[in-house]
Amino acid sequence: MVALLQVSLITDLQAASEKTTHAGRTYYSAQWVKNYFHFTGLSTAKGRVTMTSPKVRLAASSGSQTLYLNRVKFTMSYPLLSKEGTYYFSHVDAAKLIHPVLKPGNIRQAKPFSTVIVDAGHGGHDSGSVGPYGTEKQYTLALAHKLKRQLEAKGFKVILTRPGDAFLSLQQRVAFANKYSNAIFVSLHFNWAASGGAGIETFALSPPDSSSTMGGYSTTQFSGNRLDAANIALATAIQAFSIKQLGGVDRGIKRARFAVLKGLQMPGILFEGGFLSNRAEARKIHSNLYLEKMATSITTGIVKYRAETTSR
Ligand SMILES: [Zn+2]
Repeated sequence: MVALLQVSLITDLQAASEKTTHAGRTYYSAQWVKNYFHFTGLSTAKGRVTMTSPKVRLAASSGSQTLYLNRVKFTMSYPLLSKEGTYYFSHVDAAKLIHPVLKPGNIRQAKPFSTVIVDAGHGGHDSGSVGPYGTEKQYTLALAHKLKRQLEAKGFKVILTRPGDAFLSLQQRVAFANKYSNAIFVSLHFNWAASGGAGIETFALSPPDSSSTMGGYSTTQFSGNRLDAANIALATAIQAFSIKQLGGVDRGIKRARFAVLKGLQMPGILFEGGFLSNRAEARKIHSNLYLEKMATSITTGIVKYRAETTSR
């Protein structure tokens, strides 16, 4: 019964009366979103839409892709549309962001799982980003081993795509992961930016008919897109606990068509744990204690994701 809700949502969305078309795409009014997701309050002052319910607060601004659900920050696939005094959310964002994040228990592709595939980014001749105290490949591996120990302590089976300093192509990582069933996939990385950069961000695969944070628009349905709802729920849990427990700049939950996410046949995300180009962050990342805390926040997110998607 519950499993059917995902399908019925799409039908309901298409049948919604409060919709409009913009650039060939369907959008739903803020009033419709409020009713559908059972918010009790809606205010639309000064280009800002706020919805409230006893448990959830939603906030978005006209022309912006930034969306907050409680304190959790997301980049929507399309900006909030303002048309003749009414605000509209794109179909992709209503169906593939707001719905799975607010109702994770209805995600039918989120199967119970016992295995976590932990993918330490880069390795071997590929150092990844280079910071003042060390390289990305060394920090992703250290974090992967800490995460493995902590997840095992919670009863998960953990498989590392690379237990040591070896090079694996992105395709090899995906093929390796896809050999496992009842699993999820977590790829670990650290960031770099010429301007320095700051903060933590988590990526889920971009849905079809949307742009990517890095790269352009695509309509292609990759195998990873069959798990869109589960992917965003997993990304949400991991990013939310990382920001809550580690603090720092919240870069939010974003979308991209990374090679390591496109071909997955299980829920998966890519985590960026901070900037090696930022000396203060690089110093924190170089600390064992900080990486241990980071592993704890990712573990907490995974445990929360499992509880919310499998309590039905
Ligand atoms: Zn990387």
